[in-house]
Amino acid sequence: MSEWSPQKSAELYGLDFWGNDYFNVNNKGHVTLTPFGKSGPSVDLKEVTDNLEERGIRLPILLRFPEIVKSRIELINSCFEKAIKSNEYKGHFTGVYPIKVNQQKHLVEEIVAHGAKYGFGLECGSKPELLITLALMDTEDGLIICNGFKDREYIEMALSSRKMGRNTIIVVDRWTELSMIIDASKKLGIKPKIGLRAKLNAQAGGKWAETSGSKSKFGLSPSEIVYFVEVLKKEGMLDCLELLHFHIGSQIPSILSIKSAIKEGARFFTELYHMGTRLKYMDVGGGLGVDYDGSGKSDSSRNYDEQEYANDVVWSIQQICDEKNVPHPNIITESGRSLVAHSSVLIFDVLGRNELRQPEINMPNISKDSPIVREMFEIFNSISKDNLNESYNDLLEKKKDTRQLFAYGVLSLEQRAKAEDLYWASVTKIADLTKDEPDYEDIYMSLESELCDTFFCNFSVFQSLPDSWALNQVFPVMPIHRLEEKPTRRAVIADLTCDSDGNIDAFVDSVEGGTHSFLPVHSQEPLEPYYMAVFLTGAYQEILGDMHNLFGDTDAVHLTTNGEHGFNVDNVIEGDDIQDVLAYVDFNRGEMLQKVRSVTEKRIQMGELSPKDARHLIGRYEKGLSRYTYLTEEEQS
Ligand SMILES: *Cc1c(COP(=O)(O)O)cnc(C)c1O
Repeated sequence: MSEWSPQKSAELYGLDFWGNDYFNVNNKGHVTLTPFGKSGPSVDLKEVTDNLEERGIRLPILLRFPEIVKSRIELINSCFEKAIKSNEYKGHFTGVYPIKVNQQKHLVEEIVAHGAKYGFGLECGSKPELLITLALMDTEDGLIICNGFKDREYIEMALSSRKMGRNTIIVVDRWTELSMIIDASKKLGIKPKIGLRAKLNAQAGGKWAETSGSKSKFGLSPSEIVYFVEVLKKEGMLDCLELLHFHIGSQIPSILSIKSAIKEGARFFTELYHMGTRLKYMDVGGGLGVDYDGSGKSDSSRNYDEQEYANDVVWSIQQICDEKNVPHPNIITESGRSLVAHSSVLIFDVLGRNELRQPEINMPNISKDSPIVREMFEIFNSISKDNLNESYNDLLEKKKDTRQLFAYGVLSLEQRAKAEDLYWASVTKIADLTKDEPDYEDIYMSLESELCDTFFCNFSVFQSLPDSWALNQVFPVMPIHRLEEKPTRRAVIADLTCDSDGNIDAFVDSVEGGTHSFLPVHSQEPLEPYYMAVFLTGAYQEILGDMHNLFGDTDAVHLTTNGEHGFNVDNVIEGDDIQDVLAYVDFNRGEMLQKVRSVTEKRIQMGELSPKDARHLIGRYEKGLSRYTYLTEEEQS
């Protein structure tokens, strides 16, 4: 066997594909985080986890890295700056962050703070989100884009924010919103800045495409746009129309779809110009993809990078405007996923494993066993390269027989256990012999998935990775330590919920690109914890999470680098306790305690419970209410 190394682990888990230079493996075999690239400061995730556990922060822990957000903001701005410069494009670039992607207060604050020097703005899609943006945006003339379904209150609030010194643009998503804006503007005496969202025909492709064309939920049709302009002219408000918007979907896998949408959007722009409008901005929405699996071709991937995206957006708009003699607009993007996905990592521990692979078998006194066990032992011993098909088929038959004999009462549980051990040992042997044998690929593939270990892990897919459950989105998963060691086993991941959907069974395949059905993992070290992490969880996962089986929010920690290898814990946000999640479903702590107390009172009167035991029972129940919803170590008292 050739020497293993941390570098080989990095290749095996595809860090080069999805890590974006933010995640690496160090000499100790631990995953490190490098928010400013490989040459900058680094944080050792295993050391962070040990350290946080010492401080009493509980697994699973969500780690957030604001420095990555900062570096993403710098990246998107520098890509557009480069594209604008090299094309001699006349407009400028402004990014806005759509807060629905992750509304956590600290995160939005970081974006506003780091984005200020670029004039970075915020996008909101509902009334509550508008109220957040108004509280958090503190740059003078800061850009706020208001999308989503709007009522009078939403519109009046957005208009009023102009008096707070904000550059708020209300984007008309549905036709009826225009008359509300005109009325509200007259009532409040505030001149609105208006945008309009166009329905495009171009399609995004991928899992997160918005419906396009006439079926689209948002946006105005061509005839509505023509009428829209007429109404504004009649009201003498044409100069209020400043922005054209479209958004064809999130995580767009192909650059071609992006280009065709931009070109179609640019045609709307030039037509609107010739109808007499003087729009300042073209807002191309979100959709900039993140490479979750490194394949460059699946829905969880993309076939372009940030610079190509910027080049194509700038160049496509420029080409069409030049062709139609229209001045270049300022460009706005609403990239959310690409800005924040890399900034969070979920760390969890493995609670137990179900191992099916049996490299060795010990069968003393086989002569005393039942005939079927003896037959299976013979098959096991005779397996060789010359009889693989035959042995495999025999085994399948014996496996069936075993179950039947057990059901008929012929085979004891003890004998059935031996037969099953022999089955697993035999298929392990067959799998090892069929590996790398093209003739036996079928057998090998089916055995590989049958022989996978199952890791039972301390987290909830429903709470922490809703898109993995709902959309089969791939997220990179890997152990964060022991990477100097060759992983010798393969596993799928099962979460804590009592739901067979609560698992992860698609993993980044660093050789072929795309995914396969198991994750390489290390063999068990008794008593040693095994820590794993899911990466790129910063976008969309936190707010969509649900409380299946009442597993609540995890503890979250904000970390920044300090010196070359140190780190600071800037914020600790405690996750839900049991009473918190119970309150969501309308259970009240006091009432619950009261109920349990009254049962114990009755039992005391019946002489079934001593007052002292009753006290202990209530004490335990009360303490239980304030515990973490996930599994925790015994508390040392
Ligand atoms: C969701 C959404 C976005 C964000 O899209 P990403 O793919 O996360 O960049 C941008 N604009 C609008 C209108 C959206 O609904």
